[in-house]
Order: sequence, then C-alpha cells, then structure tokens
Amino acid sequence: MISDIIAKAENGSEVSVDEVFELMSITDASEMEELFSAARRVRDRNFGKKIFTYGFVYFSTYCKNNCSFCYYRCSNNNIGRYRKSVEEIVQLAGSLKDAGINLADLTMGEDPKMYADGYKGLLDIISSVRDEVGISIMASPGALPREMFPKVREAGADWYACYQETYNRPLFESLRLDQSFDDRRNQKVWAREAGLLAEDGMMIGLGEDVRDRAETIVTMGSLGCEQIRAMTFVPQEGTPMQDHTPYDSTEELKAIAVMRILYPDRLIPCSLDVEGIAGLKTRIAAGANVITSIVPPNQNLAGVAQHELDIENGNRSVDHVFEMLDEMGYRHAESSEYVSFLNSRRAGVGGA
Ligand code: SF4
Repeated sequence: MISDIIAKAENGSEVSVDEVFELMSITDASEMEELFSAARRVRDRNFGKKIFTYGFVYFSTYCKNNCSFCYYRCSNNNIGRYRKSVEEIVQLAGSLKDAGINLADLTMGEDPKMYADGYKGLLDIISSVRDEVGISIMASPGALPREMFPKVREAGADWYACYQETYNRPLFESLRLDQSFDDRRNQKVWAREAGLLAEDGMMIGLGEDVRDRAETIVTMGSLGCEQIRAMTFVPQEGTPMQDHTPYDSTEELKAIAVMRILYPDRLIPCSLDVEGIAGLKTRIAAGANVITSIVPPNQNLAGVAQHELDIENGNRSVDHVFEMLDEMGYRHAESSEYVSFLNSRRAGVGGA
C-alpha cells in the first residue's frame, strides 16, 4: 500500500528500492496527491515556509565533451557560444546578491581554456566572487581530478555540483560519451571529503525505466549529497536526441516528492530551467525547497536544459519569483538563514 510506504518513510524507517519503485510507479491521481501532500508536510516540518533561492551564472558554454543530450556538446558546431570575463561574472554575482538571492551557481561546460594552467581560470573566478561579492557559491565546472577539490574549496566554493543523470551504467555510457561512470560518481565523494557540500542530479526521459529511477534516487541519497535533484529532459536542436519524445513533468514531480519523503533534511530544487516560471508552483507543491536557475535578464546568459526559456522576458528574474512564492504562502529565505543552514550541514563533511 502506498500509504504504508509513505508512513514508513515519514517515521524514518528504511524504505527499500522495491518500495521506491512502487512510489515511482503511481499513476492514480488520488495516490499522487497523497504523495505530494506528504512531501509538503515533510518539507514544511523541516524547513518551515522558507524557500532558498539560487541564481545561475553560466559563464562558459564551451565544452570538450559530447554528451548526446546536450545543446552545448562539442559537435553542435553552429551555435553561438560565449565565455564571460571575471569582471562580468563578479558583476552578475553581485547583482544576484543585491537582489536577495542566496547563492550564485557558477556553471561552465568542460571548457579547456578554464582548465588550462591547473584550472587557473576556474579558481580565479571562484576566488574573485568570494572576495569581491561574498555570496555563497556553488561550483559546477564538470568532472575534476581528485586533487582539485581542496583547491576549489580553498578558493571559496561552498558546493560542488555534478549530475550523474542516471545510475544505470550502460545508459550513462550511451549518453555521456567517452566519460567514466565511476569517475563521475566519485566526484561527489571527493568533493565531500574536501569539505564541500555536494549536489547530484538525475535526468528523467533519457531512456531509463521506472526501476532505474528508483535506483538512481536511492544511490544519490546513499552518497550523502546534501542537495539532490530531478529534471525532465528537454530535447535539444542539433543533437542526436533532438527527435526524442519529451515527457511531461509528472515523473519529475513524483521524483521530487519521493526524494523529499526519503531524505527530509536535504535540499531539493525546483529548476526554472525545464518549464520556466510556469513550472514553479507544481514543483514547490511536490516538496521542493530551493528555486534554482534564476537568471538575470538582459545579460546574454543562457540556461542549460532550455537555453532561452523565460530569460530575456524577465520571467526568471528575482522579483517575479519572489512574488510567486508569496502568492503560494511561502517566503524566500534571507541569506543569513541560508548561511546558517550551510554551517549546520558542513559539520557532516570532511575538512569542516
Ligand atoms: S552536459 Fe556538460 S559535459 Fe556534457 S556536453 Fe553538455 S556542457 Fe559538456
């Protein structure tokens, strides 16, 4: 029974992969609502009515990799790419901080220029944002060698994010071409060893089945990542998967709710990168407690899953997001509340 599994999770008892599979298999509308309302209850019990907010600074869209689902894969030749300067990145992060956003997510493709000279470009950007802006920082620079993690932490990053997308190994290998499954999995472990908090993520609709989703949720949880996410795949023009039939958001919403009841104290994002602002309410109603991918308009910045959606019209801007939260009876967290949260979580990772 679905109710029994939900009750078990809420009581803190261990929930098996088979039970997660059952939850992820729900199709009945009333069972779905039962799951979502349990997720809201668990989220509100742990975090109250506050929602954390992250801004997105996608500072280099160059990448040496060729992931079959990604618009910025190196073989997608005829697209505009950009690389922002340190000054521009500092200015963008500063405007996020001034607007009351809790964290700047500094994201790039695996850009060889940023990786040159011992990752100097990347480290300079992180330390400049720390020194000149003082906002909490997530680094999302792709897969790094193990010895880089203490340096990323030392430069000032609070978080390291690296999405596995799926823990189905053959599927991973068919998507992230010529990349190591184990190396990518270990990124999260090495980050936490170095005192960084870690984020992992799954993509829904890439060819995985329901059991894969259940196993991926449980694996992400067991790695101890403090932030875990699910995002629906949006087919990208100019890629081998451009004609893939897209999913609606139902599976993503179920995954958000299941992760919430299994891992009550983790951060679980609602990304504006999939459905833009239209998807905010449903994801918050499924138990998410962080809004990610807030992008300032008029700055020529891209998103990842939807590289243009709602950016230039300002709908992903801060005021608009805050207003929507208020309408839903939630509030955006102050940065001091976010920093206290980070400090409480850092006690759980190495090097704290
Ligand atoms: S998903 Fe990341 S690593 Fe893969 S091609 Fe896109 S930017 Fe590069």
